[in-house]
Amino acid sequence: MFVYLNDGVVPEAEAMVSVFDHGFMYGDGIYETLRAYDGVVFRCEEHIQRLFRSASLIGLNMPKDIAGIKDAINETLRANSLLNAYIRVTVSRGKGLIGLDPDLCETASFVIMTNNFKPYPAVFYEEGIKIIIAAVRRNLKEALDPRIKSLNFLNNILAKIEAKQAGAYEAVMLNSGGLITEGTISNIFFARDGVLCTPSVACGILDGITRSLTLDLAVKNGLTVKEGEFRPEDLYGASEVFLTNTTMEVMPVSRVDETSYQPGKTAALLVREYGREVAAYVREKECERP
Ligand code: PMP
Repeated sequence: MFVYLNDGVVPEAEAMVSVFDHGFMYGDGIYETLRAYDGVVFRCEEHIQRLFRSASLIGLNMPKDIAGIKDAINETLRANSLLNAYIRVTVSRGKGLIGLDPDLCETASFVIMTNNFKPYPAVFYEEGIKIIIAAVRRNLKEALDPRIKSLNFLNNILAKIEAKQAGAYEAVMLNSGGLITEGTISNIFFARDGVLCTPSVACGILDGITRSLTLDLAVKNGLTVKEGEFRPEDLYGASEVFLTNTTMEVMPVSRVDETSYQPGKTAALLVREYGREVAAYVREKECERP
């Protein structure tokens, strides 16, 4: 396996960053997760734009421009002969003396890790997954802007631990006002009284790229959508619940805490439409294959 490190691909065993890297010491850095289908990186431009947004929100000087990052991703996929891949781009503040001051670090560390995409078990899509509403609340958006896709995931990791202890796959966090926000690595949707609902960005969520595509596909297919403020009771009273993210795409939920849901037609429609969208995108971008 080859890893892209700063200026080129190196064998995995040589892909090392310093213990003085502020990403390691303080979680000072940002990342993106992308997915390649048949050699085409889905919505690559949007992910890279979001990486630049994260960089700008933490005052990080990006070591490459958009085209440079695209080339680096493709070079990494090529080096590993990968077509259907999981891709992670990490940019940390870089190596520096101990101390929080970002100016202690001269250059950012830039890493791309890829792997063969391992599909989620088919049963997850057929029957849905179990999720919980975590006791741990989501970081205050006024304390840590959720638009920053940061390396510091402790808030989400604490929620994930709760999920695991409850035998669930994902945990949804409430904000300080008790409103539903998002999962630890996903956005949440639910259908209720014929309306497809999802927490608004103002509730303090990451504006997922899959979330926004799902909203577009829902509208295109004649569904009524509502981005708003929702409480656990709204979720418990829903007819269907599903999650979205780049790797899960649209994943149905079978249970939230003690409430069960049958696989529903809204999620089924969006799973299908998402698949069509990916196929159309791959056809359109075939010429960009590495
Ligand atoms: N929320 C959080 C906290 C996440 O980490 C992710 C995964 N990146 C998402 C939502 C979903 O975002 P996307 O659809 O862009 O993968």
